[in-house]
This record gives sequence, C-alpha cells and structure tokens, in this order.
Amino acid sequence: MHKILSLLVKLQKLDLNLDKIRSDKESFLLQVNSYEEKIKQLEKELKEKKKEPKEIKKKRREREERIEEIDILLSKHEEEKYKVKSQDEFDALDKEVAQLEKEKKEVEDIILDLMEREEIIARELPLYEKEKEEEKKRLKKNKNNSLEVIDKLIQKEEILKREREELISGLDNNILNQYEKLRKIRGGLAVTRIEKGVCEACRVKVSTSLAYEVSQGKGIIYCENCSRILYIPDN
Ligand SMILES: [Zn+2]
Repeated sequence: MHKILSLLVKLQKLDLNLDKIRSDKESFLLQVNSYEEKIKQLEKELKEKKKEPKEIKKKRREREERIEEIDILLSKHEEEKYKVKSQDEFDALDKEVAQLEKEKKEVEDIILDLMEREEIIARELPLYEKEKEEEKKRLKKNKNNSLEVIDKLIQKEEILKREREELISGLDNNILNQYEKLRKIRGGLAVTRIEKGVCEACRVKVSTSLAYEVSQGKGIIYCENCSRILYIPDN
C-alpha cells in the first residue's frame, strides 16, 4: 500500500477509537451527573421527612390552644345564660354554644388524627432513614465506579492522542486538512475499504478501473459516490 495511504488508514482507525472513547466518556459523565442529581434529591427528601414530626406537633399545639379558647368561651357563655333578659338573647347564646361545641368536637378529632400520625411517623422514620441512607450509599458507589471508568478512558485518550501526534507528523498538511474535512462531512469516516468491489462506507459499487488504481497503491483515490479515500488492505 502507498505509504501515505497506509498512514491515513492508521489515522482513521485511531480517530475512530478516539471518537468512541470520547462518546463513552460523555455518557459516563452524564451518568455521574444523574447519580449526583439523585443523591441531591434523596437528601432533600430525607430533610423534609425529618421535619415532619415537628410540623405535626406544632399543628397539634395550635389545635390544643383552640380547644382551650373554646373552653373559656363556653364557661363564659354558661355564666351569661343566667344574666340574659329575653328569649331571643337566650336563643342566640344557645346557638353560639352549639356552634362552639360542634367546633370543639371537630378540633378534637383532628387532634386525634394528628396524634395517630405522630405515632406512625415515630415508628416509620428510622426505617425510612435507614432505607434512604442505603440508597444513597449505593448511588455514591455507582458514581465512583463511573468516575473510575472515566479516569481510565482519559488515560487511554491521552495515549492515543500522543500516538496521533506522532502519526500526523509523517503527513503533509494538505492531505491532513483534506482528511479532517472529509471526516467532518462524512460522519467521522474519511478512509474506507473496498470490500468485494463495493465502497464499504456508502455501499456503492466501485468501477473496475478505479478499483484497479486503488489496488496498485499509487496514491490517494476517492470513492466516486461518497468522496471518501479508498483502500484495499494488504494481504
Ligand atoms: Zn463511497
């Protein structure tokens, strides 16, 4: 094979490897981000959950205070009953008392519900915390694994980049530019094989005369259809 063509074939293989490494790195980075997001979300949920007992207790206190207020009003009304002068006044007072008693009953029910929830949370919170902490540990482990893979990919990338530098030092700038341009417009693939008379990249048949030229290994020959650089591997 022509010396320059053989360098281009090597360069293409190397670049495909680099492309793969970069895209792998990208997806592992996305994974790391998603683990971090999940960990943050978990911590937020845990913090919210830990606040719940306090919030319920506060609600219960408020309701208990309301009961005290109602009791004071009720005993006040009880005294007033002896001082009213008309049936209308008495009826109005009676109505007020009935309403307060109804409210008292409702507030008492709410207090009972709140107490029940307090109990449930006191029982469930430790379990919930344990479960979430374990999940967090698992996510952190996954994140670290992904970070390790990224580290290895970066090391590999560095080695290939150095190899690439060495390789392109043997190539003329014009040819290198042409190769880069082709790679850009042809989905990363600038150099391709002729396989059973067909361009392996675009699957179009290569004319016999062109295939012959390529087989002679005399220079850079392009696919008539996709303009990629063609080669036939040496046996
Ligand atoms: Zn082609």
